[in-house]
Amino acid sequence: MHLASTEKVGHVRAARHAEGTSVSSDSTVRGAASDAGRDMAYNAVRDIPYDDLKAFEGRAAAEAGIGKDLVNVPMIRHWCEAMGDTHPAYAGADPIAPPTMMQAWTMGGLSGHEGRSDAYDELFGLLDGAGYTSVVATDCEQEYVRALRPGDEISFDAVIESVSERKTTKLGTGHFVTTRMDIRAGGELAGTHRFRILKYAPARRKPKGKRPRPVINRDNAGFWEGVAAHRLLIQRCGGCGELRFPWLPGCNACGSPEWDTIEASGEGTVYSYVVMHHPPFPAFDPPYAVGLIELAEGVRIVSNVIGVPYDKVRVGLPVRLEFQRVDEELELPLFRALGGGPPFTSGGEPFGSGGEPSVGGGEPCAGGGALVEGGPGGALRVGEELPALEIPITRILIVAGAIASRDYQDVHHDAELAKAKGSPDIFMNILTTNGLIGRYITDRFGPTAVLRTVAIRLGAPNYPGDTMVLSGTVEAVDNGPDGVTAMVKVVGTNGIGKHVTGTVAVTLPPGGTA
Ligand SMILES: [Zn+2]
Repeated sequence: MHLASTEKVGHVRAARHAEGTSVSSDSTVRGAASDAGRDMAYNAVRDIPYDDLKAFEGRAAAEAGIGKDLVNVPMIRHWCEAMGDTHPAYAGADPIAPPTMMQAWTMGGLSGHEGRSDAYDELFGLLDGAGYTSVVATDCEQEYVRALRPGDEISFDAVIESVSERKTTKLGTGHFVTTRMDIRAGGELAGTHRFRILKYAPARRKPKGKRPRPVINRDNAGFWEGVAAHRLLIQRCGGCGELRFPWLPGCNACGSPEWDTIEASGEGTVYSYVVMHHPPFPAFDPPYAVGLIELAEGVRIVSNVIGVPYDKVRVGLPVRLEFQRVDEELELPLFRALGGGPPFTSGGEPFGSGGEPSVGGGEPCAGGGALVEGGPGGALRVGEELPALEIPITRILIVAGAIASRDYQDVHHDAELAKAKGSPDIFMNILTTNGLIGRYITDRFGPTAVLRTVAIRLGAPNYPGDTMVLSGTVEAVDNGPDGVTAMVKVVGTNGIGKHVTGTVAVTLPPGGTA
């Protein structure tokens, strides 16, 4: 479900038509396009004349909306707890609200929106009536003008900025709707917020085929008994002690039929791998990586490498055994990529040529203001890579983030309803992703850092059980009267791909204190 990519597909196709040439060799884009075509059947939708949709552009989406609560300490605290954000500015006697929380103050909450305009309801009614009944947020761009403090009364106006032509994505077919909101505190502009959603008809996934069953016989039954007990068993020759895998009735080294077993520790590395693109099999969702894993004991086993995008699997990648239930009857030994190795760094991406990547030199970003020591911009270089942040995507994080952001869309807390809408499980909402990125940046830049803008685009959803790794690269540094402002490119990668890509502007005031 690469939303970001699939939206790109629309542009790529349009460009192809215009120029008559192949404009992209991006396999992700092509993969998304072919997946959308091959695996999906679409629910019946009615074509809406595009002029009818264009007519909504420029109309108010919300007029004189009022935040349901004043900015307040409990909501700030709940947000920080959900995001794991311990920034000192958000606590204590005189806290400010985390800037990325801005949208939360405008949310309708459990009882819904009141400030919505007729135009917004009409547009949604039109799309619903034509069969585009589901909604997912894809982009969020925020600019923060002034900090929000407890007691601030929030008001907002929003305008429908654009409605796209019909686009087909992996999620389904539909229209992107972009709204722009001005948010005020006590009548004074506090920030702006541009938000893009896809209003779509969910694709009907063909029922997924089951993975092939193992053929269990006298010679390998012990192996599968081990799997059932979550033990990966290796045969050991009774004659010469040689370890062997896969299981065989006799020893290749000495011919002895005698054997016993040892249990694998579960540690290993990728000895070799292939990425499977074609042909597709019903149980598998290409592209995916098949690894030949060398276990710490020295024998090798073929299995899937999980927990890392298929194109980040590398020879030598450290992995650890995990037993995963793939359907009601079958559990399999799979190998999860371990962090810390080469695959998670974005090294080698061409971010400027000035300055070498920031390895060594102590901990560049831990703790307060270390980056600006020696004068604004002195320690902050274009091309500098921030230490990565690994975030386990738990069910409770997804739910707590949704509630802290006052987002009661069922797909963020109710697995059954999420499945009914074509999603394999609940998934993280965009406000939580936004909050986690804010936390990542201020964690890395220290307590004096001030967020200016956060612009993100979502791709592969964050489902429970996955891990997201946030990484950041300084793309530009600007010395101004307010201090030094860095533009940081942020990428959040999960087990299925890029969950989020975005850009954050963050300012470090001169003198290192806010
Ligand atoms: Zn032997």
